[in-house]
Amino acid sequence: MKAAILEQAGTPLVIDQLTVSKPGPHEVLIRTAACGLCHSDLHFIDGAYPHPMPCVAGHEAAGIVEEVGSEVRTVKKGDAVVTCLSAFCGHCEFCVTGRMSLCLGGDTRRRPG
Ligand SMILES: [Zn+2]
Ligand SMILES: [Zn+2]
Repeated sequence: MKAAILEQAGTPLVIDQLTVSKPGPHEVLIRTAACGLCHSDLHFIDGAYPHPMPCVAGHEAAGIVEEVGSEVRTVKKGDAVVTCLSAFCGHCEFCVTGRMSLCLGGDTRRRPG
């Protein structure tokens, strides 16, 4: 896929091709149709928010589901979706009491690398 890659804070984004791994059990692969860059992204780009590099800028996207992990039940291939930076599991104590931003569900965390 083509992506706007931030290789180092304070440098211009580099548009290049990336290889994306298959989705894990609780992940969804989305073909991005559109993506914004918000002020949070600018903080990553200028180094105000330290973050491991390289990374792909843009966390507010819309697209079509291409593939789902083996445990995903809420969307299917072909669904139109929007992304959310704050992933939540939907079944931990915080999620079921309406505080999804505090979710501690390990299912929503991506493995290193
Ligand atoms: Zn944002
Ligand atoms: Zn949760």
